[in-house]
Amino acid sequence: MRSTATPGPRRRDLRWRGALDALGVVRRAPGITRAELARRAGLSSGSATEITARLRELQLLRESPAPVTGRGRPTTVLGAHPRGPLVLAVDLRHEDWRLALAGLDGRVEHVAAGRHRRRDPASVLDALGAAIAAERARQRGRVRVISLAVAGTVQEQGLVQASTLGWGEVDLGVLRRGSALPLLVGNDATLAGVAEARGGAGADARAVLHLTVEVGIGGILVVDGDPVTGATGAGGEFGHVPLGGSTLRCPCGARGCWDILVDGRAMARHLGQRAPANARTYARAVLDRAGTDSAARRAADACAAALGTGTAGLVNALDPDVVTLGGLGVPLHQVSSAAFRRAYLSGLMVFRRRSPPPVRPAFHGEDGALQGAAEVGLDAVLTEGGLEGWARAHVRGAR
Ligand SMILES: [Zn+2]
Repeated sequence: MRSTATPGPRRRDLRWRGALDALGVVRRAPGITRAELARRAGLSSGSATEITARLRELQLLRESPAPVTGRGRPTTVLGAHPRGPLVLAVDLRHEDWRLALAGLDGRVEHVAAGRHRRRDPASVLDALGAAIAAERARQRGRVRVISLAVAGTVQEQGLVQASTLGWGEVDLGVLRRGSALPLLVGNDATLAGVAEARGGAGADARAVLHLTVEVGIGGILVVDGDPVTGATGAGGEFGHVPLGGSTLRCPCGARGCWDILVDGRAMARHLGQRAPANARTYARAVLDRAGTDSAARRAADACAAALGTGTAGLVNALDPDVVTLGGLGVPLHQVSSAAFRRAYLSGLMVFRRRSPPPVRPAFHGEDGALQGAAEVGLDAVLTEGGLEGWARAHVRGAR
């Protein structure tokens, strides 16, 4: 017979476990009825009532009457509490930044944005830190986590290299402005991949390879909703694999990187022009005129072929169910679909060509990184420690 002497903390953990299961269900399906919640979380109707009452009291869930349909018994639907905890999601890109808030239902709401006046780390982080502080003050303690997506390589929650910003290792802790709030840091393409795998174009798949073309190309393999980021978190730098057979020097320091074969810099080379100051805008313009300008079309086709070849190499290596394409990868794939397809299929191992993993445009578009940042921020809030902290700090009278 098992011992009945359960220590205190264990009993408390079990209490949060039911709550976490319930919150997990509502997070994936906001607007769900209490009866359906009980079914999906494997709770009895009594436990579901008890748990939702407690979560209401803790300002985590809101329960409101469901719209009356037919003659069934009136029921209630569950959603994020309007005064509940928030994730402040931040997207730091090479030309600008954006802030968004997400509640427990994961819905992202844009709240602020700005362009970099100067690109040096001190100026950028000062402006961004001020915006973060202002938003936190506006939300009066509801922000529990700052979750940052950054266009650079992240290792152990720190930014070690951001070639497109011209930054080396930078301390992002200054964004906290001395507060004790957790700051999560992730690579933007990695977080966009998390968003696509969990609730986007790869939501039906177990293993999703996400690739984002901006200036260069980033991406990640996401398995069961979790990014495969390696030993230190810096994995997924697919752009710096020599996938295209060139010997050109990349700003990262290596030679032959895939990065510089698929973007605006590559298009400029194909068009015999100098490296553009803004490779993203340049690539957009080339893709826009590719329908009528044959030189632009050839440049786009060459980049699409390089994208297809590298994608095939990664599919051979990583075995995803689905490939999702974000950023400029979407219009590039659209404009030069035949060139992409040819290179993709010829790069695949023969056994894969019968049913190659489908290549789909990203669902979240420009919001992928913000949505992914909100997702991993919510992962941190929706833990036993996260809920304890919320209950202690924010809800009067909570034990
Ligand atoms: Zn490189």
